Amino acid sequence: MAAIDSFGIDRLRTRLSKSAVILTPDTEGYQESLVRWSDTGRKEAGIVVQPVGYEDVSTVVRWATEHSIDIAVKGGGHSTAGTSSSEGGLVIDLSRMKHVSVDAAEKTIRVQGGATWKEVDEAGAAHGLATVGGTVNHTGVGGLTLGGGYGWLSGQYGLTIDNLLSAKVVLADGSQVSASPTQSQDLFWGLRGAGYNFGVVVEFKFQAYDQSPLVYSGVLAFPPEQLEKVVEVLNSGLANPDARSGAMCIITQAPDGSGPMIVVICFYNGTHEEGEARFADLLALTPILNTLGMIPYSELNTLQNPQATYGDRKSFKGVFYEPPLDTNFIRGVFDDFVAKVNSDKDLIPSAIILEFIDMRKICEVPLSQTAFASRNMTQNGILVMRWSDASKDLDHRNWAREAQKKWKTELDARKRNSLHKNDVPQYINYAEPGDSLVDNIYGANLARLQEIKAYYDPRNIFHKMHPIPLPATGTLEK
Ligand SMILES: Cc1cc2nc3c(=O)[nH]c(=O)nc-3n(C[C@H](O)[C@H](O)[C@H](O)COP(=O)(O)OP(=O)(O)OC[C@H]3O[C@@H](n4cnc5c(N)ncnc54)[C@H](O)[C@@H]3O)c2cc1C
Repeated sequence: MAAIDSFGIDRLRTRLSKSAVILTPDTEGYQESLVRWSDTGRKEAGIVVQPVGYEDVSTVVRWATEHSIDIAVKGGGHSTAGTSSSEGGLVIDLSRMKHVSVDAAEKTIRVQGGATWKEVDEAGAAHGLATVGGTVNHTGVGGLTLGGGYGWLSGQYGLTIDNLLSAKVVLADGSQVSASPTQSQDLFWGLRGAGYNFGVVVEFKFQAYDQSPLVYSGVLAFPPEQLEKVVEVLNSGLANPDARSGAMCIITQAPDGSGPMIVVICFYNGTHEEGEARFADLLALTPILNTLGMIPYSELNTLQNPQATYGDRKSFKGVFYEPPLDTNFIRGVFDDFVAKVNSDKDLIPSAIILEFIDMRKICEVPLSQTAFASRNMTQNGILVMRWSDASKDLDHRNWAREAQKKWKTELDARKRNSLHKNDVPQYINYAEPGDSLVDNIYGANLARLQEIKAYYDPRNIFHKMHPIPLPATGTLEK
């Protein structure tokens, strides 16, 4: 990779908007710009550029490719694997491009590439509208959308990408294109599930839906001995799905340090009575904490924020299961996890998060309609490891990898007789690149993705997050 000399930076400065910001190791604000949600995602960039408009993004991409400088794109900065950071290279930091505009008549929401879901949730709610966004509102719209996107509204409306109407993209040669069902259709197909591979998405346009201002949601907590009963109730919820409903089961530590507990976040997009009826069996297990009630829609995706804070070292290991989740298996998972946390108290903020989402709407879309390869009834979860001592990185990651493998073994045993043996079980956004449990995260969509990659990014400029391997021969000229 070429060195970033000051002559090159001076030339770049003259080509950018006046309000665009350039940060280098000796300028104020540089250290702050390197901060990511996880300290494991931080890298010492040679230069950070914060564009303010689409033309700036084109300019900086052209400049970097002219000088053969490594490029990373930062949306919300939540990658735990550092895929939005560059060691010595350029970060295109989209944090000054967060504008959101709502067309209430058309029921659409336009979002700039650096926005977080907070901006989208709040702008939509002001017009009584919502779209399918992430369940932690400081997560970036960029990374979450480009890998698929599950949210509380997925039962009703599918994945985030199923509600993407169009996108504006700056390609590797600096040109700007629109991708939609009628423009650059192949790019639009690839963006929806493998989207970090083709360029910088500077704008997304989403379908929005009427959303009542209040929803039924909150947190229940149970002692560890209730784990099997809680999982049985959640399993039966999946067996009798309701598109307006969802839940997350979290194995974590009690805030008072008294030991592990089981937390369930419940969601029902309806009235108090409907929500209470939907979660009656869980409520009957007499939780030790119950905050369920009607809350503003714009607060729904803040419920996990007190735990999902910035700071510390973190690792995401995506797990998955074919419902019903086996109660013996989950007890084993629980015991292993608690033993690991007890062996090193630095791990106390770690957690296992298991989703219980109605997948029917998501599975209505054929697998070949978008690049997203894990469109099936398999449920997702995350083993979130969190610690502070950097010398333990390898140890904790290795342990987590072994723990993760047990989920794959369990799934393989369960799927032996399944019709969907060849589906990709792992959700791409919960898989750290190079550390996926499956060999081919793009599954049956890989060959088409390779063609699209060869056309739009033949030099593999955008290669940080699950890079699509370029085909050996036959790359098309753009
Ligand atoms: C606390 C937390 C909660 C989460 N909750 C959910 C959830 O509810 N549902 C879900 O589906 N996933 C969830 N995820 C996973 C999440 O989708 C991924 O971590 C996602 O990559 C985060 O995107 P980001 O923009 O914040 O991250 P970044 O680190 O900025 O980006 C991740 C990758 O996307 C690329 N990228 C980002 N923006 C753009 C852009 N505009 N153009 C081109 N490339 C871009 C980056 O280059 C990088 O490779 C969660 C993650 C965390 C940490």
